[in-house]
Amino acid sequence: MPYRADPDLADFVQRLPKTETHLHLEGACPFELLQQLDPVKYAAPPPFWEDGYRYRSFNQFMDLYVEYCAAFFTSADRYHEAAKIIFARCVEQGCRYVETSFHLPTLLFMKDTGPEVIRAVRAAAPRGLELRIFAGMCHNDYRDAGRDLIEECLRWPELDGIDLHGWEDLPLESWTDDVWARARALGKFTKVHAGEFMGADFVDLVLDRLKVTRIEHGVRSAESPATVARLLRQNVALDICPISNVKLAVRGIPSMKTHPIRRLFDAGVTVTINSDDPFFFGNSLSEEYYALHQELGFSRTELVRVAANGFRVALLPEHVRRAHLDELAGIAASEALSF
Ligand SMILES: [Zn+2]
Repeated sequence: MPYRADPDLADFVQRLPKTETHLHLEGACPFELLQQLDPVKYAAPPPFWEDGYRYRSFNQFMDLYVEYCAAFFTSADRYHEAAKIIFARCVEQGCRYVETSFHLPTLLFMKDTGPEVIRAVRAAAPRGLELRIFAGMCHNDYRDAGRDLIEECLRWPELDGIDLHGWEDLPLESWTDDVWARARALGKFTKVHAGEFMGADFVDLVLDRLKVTRIEHGVRSAESPATVARLLRQNVALDICPISNVKLAVRGIPSMKTHPIRRLFDAGVTVTINSDDPFFFGNSLSEEYYALHQELGFSRTELVRVAANGFRVALLPEHVRRAHLDELAGIAASEALSF
């Protein structure tokens, strides 16, 4: 890390229409905005951008999030400013569809409302980028004012869905079962972070209780053949972030070469690749493709299939999905790949 490609591979990856279906807005905060805010504090590049950097724990990661980014997201305008740069970077890399989330309880500390923040983020999407916006929340956020906010957000027409994130090892409280079911009944798409810091058992638990069809990460499903079989049987897709998993030292992933995405893909699980928190991992979407090719032996055909998975899971009208998949098939054909 960081991953670099020869010009031929870089051109190939660039030409693939791509998706980001696991991208946290706050964790993608552009460093230049932090520097504008406080040039002295942010004079030096952050230590976590150094080659070979790995976080000691999720707690350390969250402490750094507070140190670097938490103070930035104080208004709808700030979300807009950040999102504009983040989405422009997505488009530069040939990304056509983004699902991004913001941390819902952040709203408790600002005067702007949720719908105002969501509209500000949506207004930052350049032409040609399809955007879906999710509200992220932690296992223990359903209390006091946080509880009201979670209830309210289910009725915001501006919001596309909800996601459970944060400390995965906190208990899965009983409110989540009900809120996830009601969210779907109200037309929201539901996701859950699982199988990153907890094992395959937790993936099974959220499938049992929250009945999602998309799991953020889910990489530790690979520890259990029964869980992998279940993902296949229930057609559950995993939004995987390989570089994030290596940098956060997820159990069983000492290096990219050992990342279970290879096994999950080979088993037939629908996997997508994503950058997660690019500010904290110093990564880009393109680098995720380079990493798969260079360290995990994904052929160009397989990279096209991974890109196609992003559109297969995307919340798009069928004819738009078809157009993206046809474009990928055209690129594969022009390279004589058997897509
Ligand atoms: Zn995430």
